[in-house]
Amino acid sequence: MSAQFECDVLIVGAGPTGITLGLLLARAGVDALVIDKETNIYPAPRAAHIDHEIVRIFQELGVADEIMATTRSTSRYDFLTAAGETLLSFEGSDRIGPGGWPSANMIHQPSLEASLRNSGANQSNFRLKTRCAWVSYQQHDDGMISEVSTAEGPATVRSRFIVGCDGARSPVRVAAEIELDDLQFDEPWLVVDVIVHDASRLPVVNLQICDPERPTTCVLMGAGRHRWEFMLKPGETAEQVTEDAFIAQLLKPWNVEGAVTIERKAVYRFNAKVAETWRKGSILLAGDAAHLMPPFAGQGMCSGIRDAANLAWKLAAVVHGASEALLSTYQPEREPLVRGIINLAIMMGRMVCVTDPAAARLRDEQMLAARAAGTAPSPSLANPPLPAGCIHSGAAAAGHYFPQFIAPGGAKARLDDALGAGASLIARPGTNSDGFTGYLNVRRTDCEELAPFRSQIVSWLDDHSCEAVLVRPDRYVFGAGDGGALLKAWSEWVVRGRS
Ligand SMILES: Cc1cc2nc3c(=O)[nH]c(=O)nc-3n(C[C@H](O)[C@H](O)[C@H](O)COP(=O)(O)OP(=O)(O)OC[C@H]3O[C@@H](n4cnc5c(N)ncnc54)[C@H](O)[C@@H]3O)c2cc1C
Repeated sequence: MSAQFECDVLIVGAGPTGITLGLLLARAGVDALVIDKETNIYPAPRAAHIDHEIVRIFQELGVADEIMATTRSTSRYDFLTAAGETLLSFEGSDRIGPGGWPSANMIHQPSLEASLRNSGANQSNFRLKTRCAWVSYQQHDDGMISEVSTAEGPATVRSRFIVGCDGARSPVRVAAEIELDDLQFDEPWLVVDVIVHDASRLPVVNLQICDPERPTTCVLMGAGRHRWEFMLKPGETAEQVTEDAFIAQLLKPWNVEGAVTIERKAVYRFNAKVAETWRKGSILLAGDAAHLMPPFAGQGMCSGIRDAANLAWKLAAVVHGASEALLSTYQPEREPLVRGIINLAIMMGRMVCVTDPAAARLRDEQMLAARAAGTAPSPSLANPPLPAGCIHSGAAAAGHYFPQFIAPGGAKARLDDALGAGASLIARPGTNSDGFTGYLNVRRTDCEELAPFRSQIVSWLDDHSCEAVLVRPDRYVFGAGDGGALLKAWSEWVVRGRS
């Protein structure tokens, strides 16, 4: 069947997940087309935070410095009682994380998305078509045919794969008849973003005020902005709480009159849901289309961008001839990590969204007592290793996140810039890489490019008692150990099925 547009991968949705996936695929030489029903970037208030791992992905896309130039950092994220006592505190968020960038970075999502979209202009084979709404698909012998609605009228797109990065309501997910697992979190909140005129009158750390009278969030954003979120009370409507006079009353206790101007406001229901299947044949889901979480951990968009990084190199390998079995590792690798972060976000949400004064008093007493006794749980924002998937099971560090070393001294050189895109085998001199079938960079620890990082890499190899480590394109460790064995196992995954 003929179609107006052809591509290997049709990405539905040009939000942060879809654009990141499109850019990564373009860099990997895949013919991908990103479409979005809207002309412009979604303007309402959403993500305010990205972590070090996400900035590392942006580094690969060449936009990390531009994005980081407008971020702000803070040392702490505190959960406080109404009286200001600390129930829970995440510290060190301004320290460099394993990804080689500050652990927590406060952002303005539309500016970040604009940087990503603009970078597509420098990417020769990146294609974005806006005002192009995906409508439906049919599976044909020669690929998937999608019907789309464009400004010029209806059209068709033939692709080998369709990736639904089309957000919470995901028409792709609905068309593929993929159900959502509802994790039973549903709370209405007002989000208010402000332009800051006098930063000296604003908190310098991120705060959750666990006040049963009105649970409230107050966090930094990108340069020149700040955010408040207020939980709605029963009976309050979106129209009522978005009135400027109503918001002025909510902001009164913060004493910021004259120091800030309201820029945007919106009411959301904070939900937690996970799609039951993230791949159905040639249809894949990523980002909010695959999972939704309340924003208390600041990880919804981060999770979608991690999906994109996980999926991009696998789709690229398959399009270039590897077996589709590689795509079957996507959900088993990503879902457990996403569910872990959703559970953390729900835990935070259940702690914050307590409106019964007696229950709040009990929570406060128990948590303050546990903190005083040193027995309070210390939840972590760090991702655990991949439990299964495209890893060399049994090998040292398999599935762990590989750190991005920064060169000592003031140069701020980072490892990934020396490694380049794609998978890398980092090996001690003399490592046997005979029989290596390609599809990755081989870097000896004594090569010139790795000189600034040599001592850190050698210590990592020493710590894992191995001669080599194979790092996947998404910077997770395939395995560490004997170089030849790693190359053979890697080739079986990424070369299998290639002609
Ligand atoms: C108040 C709030 C605070 C948040 N804070 C954080 C935070 O601090 N950190 C964080 O990481 N995350 C945060 N998030 C979550 C984050 O904003 C989302 O997870 C993220 O925007 C999802 O990105 P996405 O690309 O998957 O989907 P979206 O950004 O929703 O993009 C989907 C795209 O698909 C397009 N689309 C839909 N249907 C079609 C169609 N039929 N055809 C073509 N295109 C279509 C849409 O126009 C849209 O552009 C927050 C969310 C909220 C609401």
